[in-house]
Amino acid sequence: MENTSAFQNALNQLASVKDKIGLEEDVYERLQSPDRVIEVSIPVRMDNGGIKVFTGYRSQFNDARGPYKGGIRFHPNVSRDEVKALSMWMTWKTAVIDIPLGGGKGGVIVNPKELSAGELERLSRGYMRAIARFIGERIDIPAPDVYTDPRIMAWMLDEYEQIAGHKAPGVITGKPLSIGGSKARGYSTAQGGFYVLVELMKKLGLGKDSRISIQGFGNAGSNMAEILSDHGYKVVAVSDTGGGTGNPSGLNIREVEEHKKKTGSVVNFANGGNLTGDILETETDVLVLAALENAVTEKNAGKVSAKVILELANGPVSPEADKILDKNGAVVVPDILANAGGVGVSYLEQVQNSYMYYWSEEDVLEKLKEMMIRAFNDIWREKEKHKATLRQGAYILAVGRVAQAMRDRGLN
Ligand code: NAD
Repeated sequence: MENTSAFQNALNQLASVKDKIGLEEDVYERLQSPDRVIEVSIPVRMDNGGIKVFTGYRSQFNDARGPYKGGIRFHPNVSRDEVKALSMWMTWKTAVIDIPLGGGKGGVIVNPKELSAGELERLSRGYMRAIARFIGERIDIPAPDVYTDPRIMAWMLDEYEQIAGHKAPGVITGKPLSIGGSKARGYSTAQGGFYVLVELMKKLGLGKDSRISIQGFGNAGSNMAEILSDHGYKVVAVSDTGGGTGNPSGLNIREVEEHKKKTGSVVNFANGGNLTGDILETETDVLVLAALENAVTEKNAGKVSAKVILELANGPVSPEADKILDKNGAVVVPDILANAGGVGVSYLEQVQNSYMYYWSEEDVLEKLKEMMIRAFNDIWREKEKHKATLRQGAYILAVGRVAQAMRDRGLN
């Protein structure tokens, strides 16, 4: 049976801003369903000689502002419902940072950890063969997501170009540098979140002596910790699935990374003490959520001491928890802004591909910074105007921009 919760959540979020922005019924009606969801069967020759058929999806939600854009997820929990929800959120994310793209998302139901490298390559190429006729540099541009990476993007690009009969590097982003990837793409999500956090801390009068704690020490979380400590901020606690480590004077993040590389976890780090409780409940000024969805729910929201919460992960604060945190005076930076740096640099990658001219890391970062700070200020303005939360401000801005493009096209 299909799990309907993710898409229902996305619909509820849309409904919550409908009246605030005076969204007309025609536009609202159209925004409640994706333009199309493509479902494909992908036969893969397995190493044992047999064929296994995998199911994949591509949801193209809305392209009023530009080509559909969004990652491809390889995960056992992928479902039609989940890709629909994620494609709707991508539509808001690209609109929030005001890049000329729409929203899409793809996925394959698979546990990639159970596949050999050869099987993974054949699955990646098979998925691209199945969706190639529906995507394109000016139609729909995929990218990496959970359990997909630059190596997989390279196989998919190669397959697409063999089918098309010409080079088309801009058809997919998150590629290796050797075939048209962008500098800074690897840590762009954390970098974008950092720019936003610095702006917010300035507004709230929080200095570099503020205590920052980070849940999740994977790609997003560890890069965030590194960027913060490189800029002189005090990261007092970090955690992963094994537990957490803390030091009230600030952790040496490079050393924590070394320790994690050696032992597989941040726990038992020599220059820190193991956290005895949940990192969400530690005394801190800023909490960065970089693990999974629904980390903060109505059960633990009351125990969060942080006054600033940054959603680097997708959906880490449940709607009920959001209300509790707001009541307690905490400011939550919503995922559609906080982690939009990833799609921001994906867009810059496409621009470089179109130019056939590549920028330095400094150039890319300067453009990303401008994009993120502008989005933050735009959202702050909406929040003030509507006496709303930052999340509501972000939705008001994003849905408003998409609706305007639809009206201008005469689509309503
Ligand atoms: P990842 O797998 O590299 O890291 C996840 C980390 O979370 C791991 O360190 C894991 O140990 C930790 N974790 C899991 N459950 C935990 C728990 N209960 N307590 C503490 N730590 C826990 O994944 P990632 O790429 O860093 O992604 C993290 C989140 O950020 C996801 O929601 C993802 O969708 C979102 N995100 C990532 C990117 C990106 O570019 N990596 C872009 C946009 C959004």
